[in-house]
Amino acid sequence: MPRHKESFLAKNLLTMLTVAGVLGGTILGCVLRNAQQEPWTPRQVMYLQFPGDIFLRMLKALIIPLLVSSVIGAIGSLDLSLSKKIAARSIIFYATTTVCAVILGIILVITIRPGTSAAADYADVKYTKPAVRQVLTQDTLLDLIRNLFPPNLVHATIAQTQTKLIVPENATGIPLENWKFVEVYEGTTNVLGLVVFGVVMGISLGMMGERGKPLLVFFETLSEAMMIITSWVIWISPLGVFFLVSAKVMETESFGDLVGRLGLYFMTVMLGLFLHGFGTLSVIYFVCTRTLPFTTIGKLSQVLVTAFGTASSSATMPITIQTLDRMGVDPRVTRFVIPVGATINMDGTALYEAVAAIFIAQFRSIPLSFGQVVAVSITATAASIGAAGIPQAGLVTMVMVLDTVGLPAEDVTLILAVDWLLDRFRTTINVMCDSLGARLVDMLSKGELGRVSDNDKNNADPHELVEIAKDTTHI
Ligand code: ASP
Repeated sequence: MPRHKESFLAKNLLTMLTVAGVLGGTILGCVLRNAQQEPWTPRQVMYLQFPGDIFLRMLKALIIPLLVSSVIGAIGSLDLSLSKKIAARSIIFYATTTVCAVILGIILVITIRPGTSAAADYADVKYTKPAVRQVLTQDTLLDLIRNLFPPNLVHATIAQTQTKLIVPENATGIPLENWKFVEVYEGTTNVLGLVVFGVVMGISLGMMGERGKPLLVFFETLSEAMMIITSWVIWISPLGVFFLVSAKVMETESFGDLVGRLGLYFMTVMLGLFLHGFGTLSVIYFVCTRTLPFTTIGKLSQVLVTAFGTASSSATMPITIQTLDRMGVDPRVTRFVIPVGATINMDGTALYEAVAAIFIAQFRSIPLSFGQVVAVSITATAASIGAAGIPQAGLVTMVMVLDTVGLPAEDVTLILAVDWLLDRFRTTINVMCDSLGARLVDMLSKGELGRVSDNDKNNADPHELVEIAKDTTHI
């Protein structure tokens, strides 16, 4: 099949269009918000968001078939010792970067002290009771482990286990540990459970050798077909993000006013995200690979803009995988590292959780001991791991970080106004870190992966069908 020569131009065209989508959406949203005195009704916002929703639905539809087939296909064509090495390298990278993000966040928030200045400005703001869930750190961690082992695979595609605390009649004074709890199933895909199943299935098919081939080829083919569909959906992203962003801006009330009040907090998180993304991550990447990541980050721009537009690591996943394939990252690495990263590796979220909790403590004039700051760091890490890759999931797990410093769940209201915007930026950093992780693990495993491919000439080259996808869509 002939390759298209203009692929470089076309690739950049798509990114430029998507960036234009974000900017255009922001402008349209601002114009509409100022076009009338009273706020737009939820129905009107829904109409504007409708095309964006359709784009999100398309992306989400790809996740399960892509995830399951690609993990099985990738692991099935690797040997066991190499799978272990890839898993170990990615987990070490993820853990290191998350810890660095939290430490950076804490240093910034303690130095800048945004809470102290906001406290005065915020005196007149009334509380609205947010729809938050009371959670304990240990429950979140146990849920994470439970979700690794879904009891029913079909169910895992639509829900995951979550421990819910039942608010007692007279809750004041009763510690959360003494509340009754129930295990419920929440309506988001249990990505981790599916990945674990995919890894085990892949390993068993790999061990079966010739007899496992038909099923392995089935999953590989399914994965490649999903990649082709992804490369079609990707072309809708400029329009999708245009409508998602414009509807969000349109429904935001007195945005300028609230950013003003929370300005310093907003800037602290933004500075942290920037320093982490372009400082810490770059240093770690450089130390491990002896190359700077900036060209790689440039090539990821389509992924980053989509992450910004959708505010969801999971929804961005098909595009992340596709882009990394195009960049030449070994698909066997991408297909393990990205789904795991999109679920548990959230540096931006970890940084934000730490900053926000300490910001609120400063706001409430609660002095924190060194031990409490350490406790915040640990819970912020856990909260980021436990947060799902969906919009504003970090806000929900924030509650458990607040709990470590004895703050009530209601206090998340203080940061609610700017959270949707910070969510977009932190999701962008989350996805950037996942992608750099895949690139780094690929580079570190290059030699071993090359040897495996040479020994296994019968396997279809996973790059080949990505090329077909490119040809089909003229990317
Ligand atoms: N929206 C984020 C993500 O999908 C999670 C969060 O921080 O709320 O990565």
